[in-house]
Amino acid sequence: MKRFLFLPVFFFAIHVNAQSNAAWQGKKCAVVLTYDDALNVHLDNAIPLLDSLNLKGTFYLTAFSDGSKKRLNDWKKAAVKGHELGNHTLFHPCVGGSGREWVRAETDMRNYTVKRMEDEVRMTNVFLQSLDNKQKRTFAFTCGDMKIGDSQFIQGMKEDFVAARAVRHQMHKINEVNLLNVDCYAVNGETGTQMIEWVKKAVQTNSLLVILFHGVGGEHSINVSLAAHRELITYLKQNEKDIYIAPMVDVAQHIGDWQAKDKQNKASRQTTPNDQLTSIPQLEIASLRNGPFHNDYTAFSLESNENIYQEKGLKDYYKNYFTMGVAVSPRALKTDEAQLILEQFSSMTPENAMKMGPIHPQENEYNWSGADSIAAFAKRNNLKLRGHTLVWHSQTPRWLFVDSAGKTVTKEVLLQRLKEHIFTVVKRYKGTIYAWDVVNEAISDSKDEFYRNSPLYKICGDEFIRKAFEWAHEADPNALLFYNDYNEIDPVKREKMFKLVKDLKDAGVPIHGVGLQGHWALNEPSEQQLDSTLLRFGQLGVKVHITELDISVYPKEHNARARQATDSMAIFTEEREKKQMEVYNMCFRLFRKHKNSISAITFWNISDRSSWLDNFPVRGRKDYPLLFDKDLKPKKAFWEVVRF
Ligand SMILES: [Zn+2]
Repeated sequence: MKRFLFLPVFFFAIHVNAQSNAAWQGKKCAVVLTYDDALNVHLDNAIPLLDSLNLKGTFYLTAFSDGSKKRLNDWKKAAVKGHELGNHTLFHPCVGGSGREWVRAETDMRNYTVKRMEDEVRMTNVFLQSLDNKQKRTFAFTCGDMKIGDSQFIQGMKEDFVAARAVRHQMHKINEVNLLNVDCYAVNGETGTQMIEWVKKAVQTNSLLVILFHGVGGEHSINVSLAAHRELITYLKQNEKDIYIAPMVDVAQHIGDWQAKDKQNKASRQTTPNDQLTSIPQLEIASLRNGPFHNDYTAFSLESNENIYQEKGLKDYYKNYFTMGVAVSPRALKTDEAQLILEQFSSMTPENAMKMGPIHPQENEYNWSGADSIAAFAKRNNLKLRGHTLVWHSQTPRWLFVDSAGKTVTKEVLLQRLKEHIFTVVKRYKGTIYAWDVVNEAISDSKDEFYRNSPLYKICGDEFIRKAFEWAHEADPNALLFYNDYNEIDPVKREKMFKLVKDLKDAGVPIHGVGLQGHWALNEPSEQQLDSTLLRFGQLGVKVHITELDISVYPKEHNARARQATDSMAIFTEEREKKQMEVYNMCFRLFRKHKNSISAITFWNISDRSSWLDNFPVRGRKDYPLLFDKDLKPKKAFWEVVRF
């Protein structure tokens, strides 16, 4: 009994420690090296030194400058090495006036409109993307000027950048950083020792230190000597164990995630009766530990919730690669699995709650409760939500295909019903669901048949597919619309899926992506098969999402069957575990290889506690297809996925 009394103290100690170290990826502070104005000396002096020590910086390029235009290939190489190419506008406009006589009239920000600024900055992003193929980057205000007239022009471009750097000489703790106005220490003739003092201060105060260089060994009136620059960089490398050193885009993204999580944790601690969804995981933890030590354990559960920063989740390991998602049931969100979701994932898909059968059981009756509770959880916790699915031959309600006399409806009636369904559901979750699996599994598995001969197809032909996309787009023009299917690794089916999506796209139908379900197993796909599959879908030029990933620990079977005597041997042996680790390792290695086409990966179910595979293909045969075990602990396969 006594040991219980020590536990809260123990966890509190971890928590205090986490405050200082966990904020910066286990280190004491963060340092970002930035270099402004696309100078030749950055390419010739700074980058070779950084590369020799495997350190990465951020280079803010003004697109229309000689140092940028004449050295395109060198900047491309710098990006390949991992340096960030930041946006420092197209023409480097600044606010002119007295003391700023060097500002030319045509690039005087006093003559700019916000629209012109936005256009030029966005054009610069296009230019930079052509160099580094990246979607995410940061901005640096030219001359530190942040306003056009009275307008903070960056406000209109919040979505275009992860952060914006200004020039104020300050450093801040992680919670105090303003990502739209990141301060920095501008170097102008400092010695190495002086700059190292800044770093020591950042270490002592657990702060973010951003350093701004212009000239490095010349080329600009604001300059640092080569020796001083080298002294600082060498010091940083030698103290890397205490200092998180990364480009601005990575550090800023980390800060953004941290601040969001902090806000969310603060909100979830202020439990109110109306805030049931977020409060449930904590209440569950507390109630599990009810009893004589109830009060101690309530405190413990709140503390342990905050310790979230200590652990990196899948979403953190893959933040520069994919949105990591998970299929959920409304019920799971009321258990301790909710906490696992928040730690590991940044996106959810309702496993069943938005399928037509559950959500639209009668022609004039919608059942929103399950879907709404998932949407509310996603909103409250700042998770993305994929909608699944609008049109599917399976799990459809009985009424859809028949009239009141029980006769099969006409094509016109069926299309009208689908239209009404799509409009109602999509509009309800407009703004919350960012991507929809519009049509699911419309393609046949048999070699000599293109479309699945479902009631939908029998009544409407293939027209329902095109119409479904058009209606979904009309209902929410901002949602990304996907065609989703399985057996994508089969060469024949793969080509049919490819052709369907391509034909829709070529015909101008609003389709933005293809969903590969990824229901795989120990014996398939092979590496070659998956590689060629991902390569092929990448050629479509639409988004690729892995939508329903799991790796069964049994050999793949495509059809449901009765339980056999040998199925009693079906346990999670060491051999199966090892093989599953290999398959997960191979899959994610290939996902990363194809990261330019893949943008999201969703697991089908949360943990081995329950999976649809427990009942497919064999009813009642337990499977272990996911990365977390029944106790929600990471399995060995988890580490195969995140160690890269
Ligand atoms: Zn500048």
